[in-house]
Amino acid sequence: MGNYRRMESALIRGGAFEDGQTRSVNVPIYQTSTYAQTELEGKPKWEYSRTGNPTRAALEALIAELEGGSAGFAFGSGMAAIAAVLNLFRSGDRILISGNVYGGTYRILEQVFAPFGLKCDIVDTADPEAVEAAMARDVVAILIESPANPLLTVTDLAMVAGIARAHGVLTVVDNTFMTPYLQRPLELGADIVVHSATKYLGGHSDLVAGLAVVKDAHLAERLGFIQNATGAVPGPFDCFLLIRGIKTLAVRMDRHVENAEAVARWLSAHPAVERVYYPGLPGAQGFEVNRRQAKSGGAMISFTLRPQHSFRTFFRTLKLITLAESLGGVESLVCHPATMTHASIPRELRLRMGISDNLIRLSVGIEHVDDLIEDLEQAIEASREG
Ligand SMILES: *Cc1c(COP(=O)(O)O)cnc(C)c1O
Repeated sequence: MGNYRRMESALIRGGAFEDGQTRSVNVPIYQTSTYAQTELEGKPKWEYSRTGNPTRAALEALIAELEGGSAGFAFGSGMAAIAAVLNLFRSGDRILISGNVYGGTYRILEQVFAPFGLKCDIVDTADPEAVEAAMARDVVAILIESPANPLLTVTDLAMVAGIARAHGVLTVVDNTFMTPYLQRPLELGADIVVHSATKYLGGHSDLVAGLAVVKDAHLAERLGFIQNATGAVPGPFDCFLLIRGIKTLAVRMDRHVENAEAVARWLSAHPAVERVYYPGLPGAQGFEVNRRQAKSGGAMISFTLRPQHSFRTFFRTLKLITLAESLGGVESLVCHPATMTHASIPRELRLRMGISDNLIRLSVGIEHVDDLIEDLEQAIEASREG
């Protein structure tokens, strides 16, 4: 930790990298796979870039500091970070996951880890009694998103982490939607934080990467071992882009949230809008819990249009807001969870999770909010049928 105390400074100064040779202000891109060694069995600091690379190490130190952890690990994607965390467990173990999580998280558990004997139960983590009741003897970890994808369901992280700890179970939080600027799960009792850094941390829709942070030294050693052994590491250039993106996280998030709050208020007052899901709106599920554990409701909004509106026409008519997978970039993106991010979840289960066919998910960018609202307005208008 350098000569500063606040998150805004840590985003720019964190990670304490020093290039003694040139005193370069920015972390250089060490585009190398290997490093010359001076003697046999010399135990050099850098030996091979899967094991360690100075650009990646700077990013890992930065995210560890921002999340308040002891060690950070960078991966080639958010899914690679989640896979590495799941590699901590073994056949016969059971993982609990939030009722709505990223579709890929569900898919990797069901289709990649289940065949190896890792079991998985879905539990409503917003309900502490349901979490307590799900704590079977073979449960080893609980994986939470708060707010969760795509219904923005809020889980009381401290409460769930407390229950998990009492049962000797690890709490893993996917903090992608909030970032450490808005929410710091390790301080609330979580053991592991994972990120799709592709989203807000990168922030410009120009890279795919993942991060994981832990507090405990033993967990750090095991995750570091898995990172090197399985090898899903990002290249130095992506690490550089991510460090660069993180520097502006505070100003970006402030504007993302300001715009999202205005859009959420506008949507909830619109007669064609059936329902708005946004944890920053008073009266929303988990509003109070979210206000306690996070700085704001973030910038992801989901909503449905009334039945006399066609969501297909709505998507087709948007002019500024882009129909695309992903979120967290400076540009506003909209997606259709049923056929896009959550298409890998069987329809019946998806509907039971509350992810209806007409659900629309909006990642509010940092364009002028009036342009966003005008675009939504004309698309909602055009979507009216009969
Ligand atoms: C995108 C996303 C992931 C997966 O990350 P990738 O970088 O796409 O592999 C995981 N969790 C959440 C919440 C996400 O939004």
